[in-house]
Amino acid sequence: MSEPVVYEGAGVAPGMAPLAGSEDLEAIYHAVVRRNPAELEFHQATREVLESLSIVVAKRPDLAQRKIIERICEPERQVIFRVVWQDDAGEVQVNRGFRVQFNSALGPYKGGLRFHPSVSLGTIKFLGFEQTFKNALTGMPIGGGKGGADFDPKGRSDDEVMRFCQSFMTELYRHLGEYRDVPAGDIGVGAREIGYLFGQYKRIANQYESGVLTGKGLGWGGSLVRKEATGYGAVFFLNEMLRARGLSLEGRRCIVSGSGNVAVYTVEKLHQLGAKVVACSDSSGYVYDEAGIELDLLKQVKEVERLRISAYAERRAGTRFVPGGNVWEVPCEIAMPSATQNELNGRDARMLVSNGCIAVAEGANMPTTPEGVRVFQEAGVAFGVGKAANAGGVATSALEMQQNASRDSWNFEYTEQRLAQIMKDIHRTVYETAEEYGAPGNYVLGANIAGFLRVAEAMEAFGLI
Ligand code: GLU
Repeated sequence: MSEPVVYEGAGVAPGMAPLAGSEDLEAIYHAVVRRNPAELEFHQATREVLESLSIVVAKRPDLAQRKIIERICEPERQVIFRVVWQDDAGEVQVNRGFRVQFNSALGPYKGGLRFHPSVSLGTIKFLGFEQTFKNALTGMPIGGGKGGADFDPKGRSDDEVMRFCQSFMTELYRHLGEYRDVPAGDIGVGAREIGYLFGQYKRIANQYESGVLTGKGLGWGGSLVRKEATGYGAVFFLNEMLRARGLSLEGRRCIVSGSGNVAVYTVEKLHQLGAKVVACSDSSGYVYDEAGIELDLLKQVKEVERLRISAYAERRAGTRFVPGGNVWEVPCEIAMPSATQNELNGRDARMLVSNGCIAVAEGANMPTTPEGVRVFQEAGVAFGVGKAANAGGVATSALEMQQNASRDSWNFEYTEQRLAQIMKDIHRTVYETAEEYGAPGNYVLGANIAGFLRVAEAMEAFGLI
């Protein structure tokens, strides 16, 4: 995996286009930069959406007049709090927790929690902004939010993780509720953390409010398919993009970056649909396995033992671990960036294109830099932007909320079929929106415009809020 790119300056990353034909949008962008100094990832995410909106502004001057875009760029509420806990050695640790409640026009705030040392307000804000449009694209009644902490779970014992989660929830609980704000997992937050968080919420609130968190364990309110949903959904979306071009997945050679929850279930679904994944990675390097990644071993190493990816190569003959290597150098027809933001830059994109890559679907949030996106689009690569391609995770969270609300639980086949239909519908919406706005095949534009319009129209109905 490449080093994530952090760009410098006024917040215009290499490859970003001028906000053509719209002085208003340029002014909105500069106001966002001024108001949110040093939040580079948030600037990047905002600019990408604004780039798609000039065409909407031209068609709908009413929206501009009522400052809908400015309102959407400003989160409804931002909570920042201290999280104090004691490690196993008895030492006091101090972290910073966040919850950004971005937009509740379509439903309660909904979005994951990320525990990673790199987390800052700008990270959570970019994720919350993306989440708002992603959730709108699902067509389900969920608003957008995101949270997390600069806590590093790596190398921490179960007890330390539990104490951290309990302290984190002791502050966060007052901002949550099944009709108010419903967090879930993201990087560093999986079933174990959701368990500790739910346990503490239940204790403080003194009620069994299943719908307050999603990604729960199957025995206590969780939904089948939620664990698999982001990865499976991204592959369903990829499949739709290929079908739209008269192509299929059968026999395709794929690369999946990362080896966390999204990556593992992306590999699983790619294999089920007849493709072959020959490499995956973590922040220490990548493994190359010409025979195709062996899924049980990958799960054992990453999900059960929580080891580095090198352990995979150590246990399987005929594979290679490339320490510090860039997974995008491995030739493939399909690339699925499923690790983290800005993990695939312009140089990586050029390398993928010259190696014959025909399609990219983003399992992670904003993994491709603006320059990388441009390279793919100019080369005619089918490019499935994250807020559409990875929406299956949060969509299945909304299905979990439905099951909780009706005190029901659905079987695997039914839930997976609902997910598959949702991904098909998202693809159709995005595809048709891109066509309608004169950019056929441009999934970035289609996703940004379709997501924006759903949120904007609801906000319009509510008056000036
Ligand atoms: N963190 C996931 C995302 O980026 C899932 C959020 C959720 O299920 O609420 O969409």
